[in-house]
Amino acid sequence: MQMSSQGVSLFLDSARELGLELEPTLPYFQLLYQNLIEANAITNLTAIRDERGIILKHFVDSLSCLKSGKLEGSLRVVDVGTGAGFPGLPLKIVRPELEMTFLDATQKKIAFIEGVCRKMKLAQTHCIWGRAEELGHDPAHRETYDRALSRAVSALNTLSELCLPLVRVGGFMIAQKSVGVEGELEQAQAAIQKLGGTVQEVITFQLPGLGELRTLIVIEKTRPTPPSYPRRTGVPAKNPLS
Ligand code: SAM
Repeated sequence: MQMSSQGVSLFLDSARELGLELEPTLPYFQLLYQNLIEANAITNLTAIRDERGIILKHFVDSLSCLKSGKLEGSLRVVDVGTGAGFPGLPLKIVRPELEMTFLDATQKKIAFIEGVCRKMKLAQTHCIWGRAEELGHDPAHRETYDRALSRAVSALNTLSELCLPLVRVGGFMIAQKSVGVEGELEQAQAAIQKLGGTVQEVITFQLPGLGELRTLIVIEKTRPTPPSYPRRTGVPAKNPLS
């Protein structure tokens, strides 16, 4: 099943509000839409299943990461806890020059993304079934990424421990959040500091189409992460740094 003509208009108009002309990329988004609907019919990939929800809450919301201004050029990017590929897949379609690594702890989600990348013939994509806590100690990944992105995975204190060890000094972590992040930010300050990060910018805006507010928290990696982080799998969530 493809996006309806109303769905296509909603998508293109909302993307235009983000400053993106996405007509040429429509076949890719149609293929992603179709694959999501088909896969969701047989397995539980994502709770958002209606056309409007997929377009606005998955596609447009993912693309709103571009508002950070930190995703231009040939960058090595990791999407931590990507689920069914959000925000990484829409960003890779629109910015093909990004080398995108999709990381998730759930095998079927990574298998889905692998299949979609193959069908779309997306170059420079890597799909990893694993835990961020483990990848963060693997020399092939630790402090090698220019950017770490993440949406809807955990509170910022835990998330910083999952993402910052993967980012090189001088790179950035970008956390996608809704609104009311002040308390979360306050609670995460000590963790961010311990992990070698510095909050650079907090960007709040209205998401096109939905009108809901969204926030991007941009954290610069200013110092190396101490070797003891990330802690064992599950510990960052159970006992967040404070
Ligand atoms: N980012 C996607 C989105 O916004 O649609 C998925 C969000 S889903 C609520 C959270 C995902 O994070 C799950 O797919 C889960 O498997 C993954 N996840 C949670 N903790 C993780 C960890 N420590 N390492 C890797 N993946 C993790």
